[in-house]
Amino acid sequence: MSAPAVFNRLALIGMGLIGSSIARAARVQGAAKSIVATARSAATRRRVAELGIADQVIESNAAAVEGADLVILCIPVGACGAVAAEISSHLAPAAIVSDVGSVKGAVLRDMSPHIPAGVHFVPAHPVAGTEHSGPDAGFAQLFVNRWCILTPPAGTDTAAVERLATFWRLLGADVETMSAEHHDLVLGITSHLPHLIAYTIVGTADELSQVTRSEVLRFSAGGFRDFTRIAASDPTMWRDVFLANKDAVLKMLGRFHEDLAALTRAIRRGDGEMLFDHFSRTRAIRRGIVEIGQDSPTPDFGRPHPDLPHERLPRPYSAES
Ligand code: NAP
Repeated sequence: MSAPAVFNRLALIGMGLIGSSIARAARVQGAAKSIVATARSAATRRRVAELGIADQVIESNAAAVEGADLVILCIPVGACGAVAAEISSHLAPAAIVSDVGSVKGAVLRDMSPHIPAGVHFVPAHPVAGTEHSGPDAGFAQLFVNRWCILTPPAGTDTAAVERLATFWRLLGADVETMSAEHHDLVLGITSHLPHLIAYTIVGTADELSQVTRSEVLRFSAGGFRDFTRIAASDPTMWRDVFLANKDAVLKMLGRFHEDLAALTRAIRRGDGEMLFDHFSRTRAIRRGIVEIGQDSPTPDFGRPHPDLPHERLPRPYSAES
């Protein structure tokens, strides 16, 4: 017998990769009795209706949240404040409002002023993704064995936090709770900085006049190919992530510059011992990640992993947002 629904009416605002994956997973798991979806463009709303992944597709954000006991904003971080203002007076008493943004401090700052008394605000970040966007990119298994980090502001009703945690667990996620500030620092180093490095390397390779574009593509079987996959991530989303998590990213970049300068100096001086020690330390970190089950020891280089059942594909890559 499946678990009882955690929510009666789930309203999803934004039906791209994440919103449509939540809709699919919630339906498969019976996590909500009914699912109402809305999106900014008529084209996306039409596509969601064609896919049949929601019980109702509604035109306006305000109408979508009426009567919903869980509302999740699945839109770029920079748009969350304006949408919260739009839905504010239409929220049901005691509803839970959440989001899925990759940055939490800015979302908390922008949405909090629009959350009416009696409504619970529990920001969330499912640390799961692919480089694809839009309602066709979503799939029900996206959150399975992935973290979902909740960042409730101090004083949030604990029952509301637990109810949202139950919802995410039903979708297959492991749930962790932390402050928004801590989240932004942790994700700054584990996700945002790696994406910035990928965007940089792919851009630099493209601009090298001695190396032709065809050579870059032809010989990209090394580490470069994984970078191109990460650098294919959605430009709007990542613009908003860097603008919204400016302080933490700049802090991490400062450290990164220092460490890169140390490695540069070691290469220039021919200091093999320093390079060897550094690479040995990082290899141990990689082995630790595999040991705790966060990744497979087999490099997949973008190909379907032979050991994974087909329905788990496309496989979320390791540097999710
Ligand atoms: P997506 O596939 O591009 O979908 C974005 C959705 O937001 C679309 O429905 C789009 O509407 C809507 N939207 C875009 N701009 C908007 C605006 N200004 N106002 C209202 N709606 C707007 O993006 P996604 O990957 O699902 O990402 C959504 C959120 O999830 C982001 O906050 C991101 O940080 C977070 N997140 C992403 C990942 C990932 O790997 N992709 C992982 C974890 C969390 P239209 O389709 O009508 O244009």
